[in-house]
Amino acid sequence: MATIFSKIINGEIKADIVYQDDQVTAFRDINPQAPVHILIVPNKEIPTVNDMTEEDEQTIGHMFTVAKLLAAKEGVAESGYRLLVNCNRDGGQEVFHLHMHLFGGRPLGPMLAR
Ligand code: AMP
Repeated sequence: MATIFSKIINGEIKADIVYQDDQVTAFRDINPQAPVHILIVPNKEIPTVNDMTEEDEQTIGHMFTVAKLLAAKEGVAESGYRLLVNCNRDGGQEVFHLHMHLFGGRPLGPMLAR
């Protein structure tokens, strides 16, 4: 079964897509935790970081390039931002299609909730 993110990538489900190429798609999180909250997703369905292989390294590196481009486009490159990837239960992963969160637009505080 296609993940909800695959359905966004192939246009079956609507989302606010801010970037797309043959390797990755980026769209605004439906429940933003910061003024800028974008998800950068490989078009290929990789469930978690545990499932990535060597052949995914180029695409996952490309996710960082897109994050950098979007941070600049959203005006948060200089003020700063956070890139986050959750994995499995303790990581708080909800959608099992690998994705990188880009947060910015306010001071984000300490890295982990205390
Ligand atoms: P994670 O906990 O890292 O798996 O994050 C999943 C993220 O996907 C959450 O921040 C959700 O708000 C977001 N999300 C779930 N469904 C959608 C959707 N249809 N469009 C945009 N973002 C979504």
